[in-house]
Amino acid sequence: MERLIYLDNAATTKTAPEVVEAMLPYFTERYGNPSSVYGFAAANKEVISQQRDVIAQVLGAKGNEIYFTAGGSEADNWALKATAEAYEGKGNHIITTKIEHHAILHTCEYLEKKGFEVTYLDVDEDGVVKLDELKAAIRPTTILISVMYANNEIGTIQPIREIGEIAHEHGILFHTDAVQAFGQVPIHVDECHIDMLSASGHKLNGPKGIGFLYIRTGVKIRSFVHGGGQERKRRAGTENVPGIVGLGAAVKRAADTMAERTGKETELRDYLINRVLDEIPHCRLNGHRTKRLPNNANFSFRFIEGESLLIKLDMKGICGSSGSACTSGSLDPSHVLLAIGLPHEIAHGSLRLTLNEEITKEDIDYVVDSLKEIVGHLREMSPLYEDFINKQKK
Ligand SMILES: *Cc1c(COP(=O)(O)O)cnc(C)c1O
Repeated sequence: MERLIYLDNAATTKTAPEVVEAMLPYFTERYGNPSSVYGFAAANKEVISQQRDVIAQVLGAKGNEIYFTAGGSEADNWALKATAEAYEGKGNHIITTKIEHHAILHTCEYLEKKGFEVTYLDVDEDGVVKLDELKAAIRPTTILISVMYANNEIGTIQPIREIGEIAHEHGILFHTDAVQAFGQVPIHVDECHIDMLSASGHKLNGPKGIGFLYIRTGVKIRSFVHGGGQERKRRAGTENVPGIVGLGAAVKRAADTMAERTGKETELRDYLINRVLDEIPHCRLNGHRTKRLPNNANFSFRFIEGESLLIKLDMKGICGSSGSACTSGSLDPSHVLLAIGLPHEIAHGSLRLTLNEEITKEDIDYVVDSLKEIVGHLREMSPLYEDFINKQKK
């Protein structure tokens, strides 16, 4: 097989073989509907309940606070729309940030059309929410604060505990989109005063199309899908048993391997960052230098078009991303890179590389060597770069 270096693990991950192994019997042998009465099927109810417990334990939550969804986007939609509806009597104001995933941003835009008011907080040049601005944005009518745990593009990790404390002190619900962070950093819902948390299977070596929303006991939240009595009558539909089993296996695996896996990734991430910054001129790192996901590196190269870079990398068997998977294909620069203050032309020349545990130092060396060559080559053909060099000579 040709060399393939997959560095787009923020877009999706490989389903771990042991996760697939755990799922298989639930397609072919134990396929019963968990709501059926006979033992053959009803056993699956118990299996689902065990997965809830596995996930809850990792978060310091209770099993009955875990609600399965069809992924991160659904969990985000549910958290926002259903709280907005349930707390409408208290107020109509929601606080979020400019760097959220579109599953949050577009849901907020939808809620604005329905009469809710949304404050989109700025972030600093590293992508960190400013706590004084958060405090200043709070109104008597604020019902929800939603801030992502870690950003999917630049990897910056937010001061979640401090944000949770502020929300808690003001009696405001706190939701966090932890789709990127869960499985990569330890998360404890009580310590951080998190009331709701979204996560997704396929971002942590689990299957696609399954995720969950953690909802703290006592939070009033409306049903999201009406129908049967599944998920405590809040999200109807026959359970995705193989998906849930796969998610449980992936979460357990991620928790068991976290320290070793992320330690290794952090080391290689820093090696990658240092080599790129040292060896490629006119280049910057986006996101916080240390408060970032263990596997995330995001660079901007001046005088370069991100899409051309991706195509050339692809020809060398290297998979990366220029924006988030959802926005690539459009010509708009990433809203996250604009929010950290990058001018359009620099945001356009950006590259996100997200590692996994299989990546080796040799892979990173190959990637950096290829990048040096490609960036040099693209700049040779760039009129902007030529202008820049000519001006420098004067
Ligand atoms: C991928 C992602 C989502 C969406 O999750 P899906 O399971 O693909 O719907 C939401 N938020 C963040 C931060 C993500 O990275």
